[in-house]
Amino acid sequence: MIPYNPIHLKYRPQTLAQLVGQDIIATTLSNAINGGKIAPAYLFVGPRGTGKTSTARILAKSLNCQSANQATTTPCGECQSCRAIASSHSLDVNELDAASNSGVENIREIVERASFAPVESRYKVIILDECHSLSQAAFNSLLKTLEQPPSNVVFVLCTTEVHKVPLTIISRCQRFDFRRIDTKTITEHLQAIAVAEQIDITPEALQLVAQTSHGCLRDALTLLDQLSNIGTQIADVQVYLMAGTVPEPELLDLLDNISTGNVTACCRIIQKLVEQGKDPSLVYLDILRILKDLLVIKTCPDATELEWQATEKWERLLSLVQHWKAISIQDAIKLLNSSSRQMKQQSSQLWLEVTILELAKIPLPLAANNKPTADPWYSWEYPSDAIAWAHQLLPHLGYRELWEKWNALATINGKKAPAWVKAIEEARFNKQLTTVGKTTSSVR
Ligand SMILES: [Zn+2]
Repeated sequence: MIPYNPIHLKYRPQTLAQLVGQDIIATTLSNAINGGKIAPAYLFVGPRGTGKTSTARILAKSLNCQSANQATTTPCGECQSCRAIASSHSLDVNELDAASNSGVENIREIVERASFAPVESRYKVIILDECHSLSQAAFNSLLKTLEQPPSNVVFVLCTTEVHKVPLTIISRCQRFDFRRIDTKTITEHLQAIAVAEQIDITPEALQLVAQTSHGCLRDALTLLDQLSNIGTQIADVQVYLMAGTVPEPELLDLLDNISTGNVTACCRIIQKLVEQGKDPSLVYLDILRILKDLLVIKTCPDATELEWQATEKWERLLSLVQHWKAISIQDAIKLLNSSSRQMKQQSSQLWLEVTILELAKIPLPLAANNKPTADPWYSWEYPSDAIAWAHQLLPHLGYRELWEKWNALATINGKKAPAWVKAIEEARFNKQLTTVGKTTSSVR
């Protein structure tokens, strides 16, 4: 039986040109290799799963591939050197996981080995993964070697937490920042693999896999691999289940009900999500994410990246955003932020419900279809707000006319706003506005 090769290993890039989503780094390193300008030390910085270690190995292969007489950007993958590096058996390419080998003695041993000439290659390459975990003494020991690097030795330091790496080390390395890979690039890459592996998956599900990975290609590939075992066509519902994420349609329903102040429906949705085993703190973060999307749409009309990410969702976001003023979205985000600490406690479901109830009370302007939300006057501060609201509903009436009607309006239970809403609603159906008594009162 052939041993199973997981997708993320099978499709690991073999050359710099195959690196996904890191074009500038690939170009710069390729030019350095072609121009023979190899630095003694490189520092690869970036989130996990974005290709740092893969690039370090490609660099090692490129420097040592025996199919060429000098360093090459197209290592063959077949020669003894390439194969030894791929299987981690090369005598001249050493990889050290600093997270589990952080002591000074580990670095001393590596540095000592570096002082000998390469055994069978052009370069000795030393890859230090998670290098921020090294002890201070280990960094000091490394520093001496980086100050006076032996010839034909290349250090590649990889880290997800560059702020923990001493400046003295950083300043002696050529630094490359690996970025999170955008959803579009990941989706296109997954699409190519799905075709090659004959994985039957809908375009929506594929895009969801990419979104769920938050820019980490390895996570996306691992999830695709896991999904490929389902056997039937993979749809978005399976992705939500497998990834443990909260289904977007239900989140949008929740936001819809928050927007219309429908507290009962909000509680019902949260209850259902919790019963499905969704973590309340995840639901909380997802609501925050949607509010962020709404704020982006509200404040940057050309939010094309969002539009691309969301197909059906985009339509719903556009409809949702009509309910909200930018200031209301900011208030909602502040409110969520104020309960972030409680969300980490055991009673997180309770706090989520309390927060959602509070959110549903944030004053909102008119709904998209021009039907008033539960209590439109929540957002009114002055009579002019009531007039503006009425003018939106009855644009054929002038402001002067509306003011006259407002001044002539009788209150309901001593309040003028509910009477105004009632009168305007009636007028919308009758297409005319009748005067209801005469009195004066404050807006609320
Ligand atoms: Zn080779």
